[in-house]
Amino acid sequence: MTSARLVVIEDEPAIRRGVVDALSATGYDVSEAADGEAGLKKALAADVDLVLLDLMLPKRDGFSVLNEIRKSKPTLPVIILTARGSEDDRVRGLKMGADDYVVKPFSARELLARVEAVLRRSNRPVETCTARLGRATIDLNRREIVWSEEERGELSETESSILLFLLQHRHRAVSRDEILTHIWGIETTGLETRTVDMHIARLRTKLRDPNGEALEAILTVRSHGYMAGPDLVPIDADQYEESSA
Ligand code: CA
Repeated sequence: MTSARLVVIEDEPAIRRGVVDALSATGYDVSEAADGEAGLKKALAADVDLVLLDLMLPKRDGFSVLNEIRKSKPTLPVIILTARGSEDDRVRGLKMGADDYVVKPFSARELLARVEAVLRRSNRPVETCTARLGRATIDLNRREIVWSEEERGELSETESSILLFLLQHRHRAVSRDEILTHIWGIETTGLETRTVDMHIARLRTKLRDPNGEALEAILTVRSHGYMAGPDLVPIDADQYEESSA
């Protein structure tokens, strides 16, 4: 069995060592970098499965690294490592397409749980799932939105998982906690529900018709959560029925 390849980008030697040791001991194939430039190079290597990214880094900061990763590898899972109290950084990182975050100081157990959850999502068995949104076709396996020959967009692993979850429950609203538990598999706290909001905001931007046609892809259900909008329609509806309905 081949183990997942992880890249750890962190400039503080003690934290980097702790993270690398914990991951290596679990059997992951881990490489490390102490600054943003070296880290970006390693993250963009062909066979990387997941990146752990500190935000405050010498040479190139984590936001810039994340931005570059998202340009050439929109679906590569990225978990950001943030300092306690820097909520703005977390929100900014999630807005830029990070899949998840852990707050320093974190335990090895917490880190491993987050890494496993993100990897589990990206290795999920292929399901047939395509949907229509206005003139666009959304292929959730390929994580692609096709508006026309020339206009295409890509979804991250997390974004396509959320979209699939909304489609699977499209006759009702799903709560932020449900989304968190299903997608991230973690216990929920007040702060973490914002993770969902950030991903939904990013998804909505990606689901905007470049021609400006107004489409209702994802509805906000006040004081509850979200729901697939009337313009987001599964192509093969049978596959999306909830068995408990
Ligand atoms: Ca740092």
